[in-house]
Amino acid sequence: MEKPKSPKPAKMTRASAATAKKPAHGGAVSVRKPPARRAKIPYSPDEIREIFRRLSIQRPEPKGELEHVNPFTLVVAVALSAQATDAGVNRATRALFALADTPEKMLALGEERVRDLIKTIGLYRNKAKNVIALSQKLVDEFGGEVPLSREELVTLPGVGRKTANVVMSMAFGIPTLAVDTHVFRIGNRLRIAPGKTPDEVEAAFLRIIPDDYLFHAHHWLILHGRYCCKARKPDCERCVIADLCKSPEKTCDVPAALVELPAQVV
Ligand code: SF4
Repeated sequence: MEKPKSPKPAKMTRASAATAKKPAHGGAVSVRKPPARRAKIPYSPDEIREIFRRLSIQRPEPKGELEHVNPFTLVVAVALSAQATDAGVNRATRALFALADTPEKMLALGEERVRDLIKTIGLYRNKAKNVIALSQKLVDEFGGEVPLSREELVTLPGVGRKTANVVMSMAFGIPTLAVDTHVFRIGNRLRIAPGKTPDEVEAAFLRIIPDDYLFHAHHWLILHGRYCCKARKPDCERCVIADLCKSPEKTCDVPAALVELPAQVV
């Protein structure tokens, strides 16, 4: 039987990214990976759709919790967030971004001043070096603009695949799935997108997430992991997918009431 052909993703430009129209749950341009050898997972497509439907009702417009004012400050904030909390990064970047919200201004500020402003964040010495180096590269090679593609983003000092995915999604509306510690844990704990590495978990999630939920999936999973399916002890009594979850660690089968949650406060 002939396999259905997947549509080719449209090539994204800065202008098209900025004006991309979100479908029902926000997807802009599909980055769906082609079907690949997949681990057997204990969820039917209907169960997976229901999981994302419920997460979408809890948080219809989920937002990243890192404060930023433009794509450049988002790149810097995400790069600073490695092994740090979003709240801790926000406390430091408020003063930093008030002084420098472009690569040129960051270079004018200089490494020593940047280091001083972010010294409450772990690994601040290296991070300050990277902020200056990535600002320099943006000015030298990208005309001071943050590039759109993952291939170009990961050439910036201190920017890995996860940071690139966050920037593509939050700054340019390109749906991707950045795998942080929460997404990685949920993929494996629930056995819904198992993998030994973040790349494997990312690929597994991208194979199963319904198109219309892809755009916000990253934030739904992070927020579910941060506030409910927590690392040390999952809060299963407060979980809206407790009846669907197939985790050996779950402690409750009865789903919590499905209501929209109050706005996020970092
Ligand atoms: S039921 Fe428990 S283990 Fe399963 S997703 Fe919810 S909080 Fe996590």
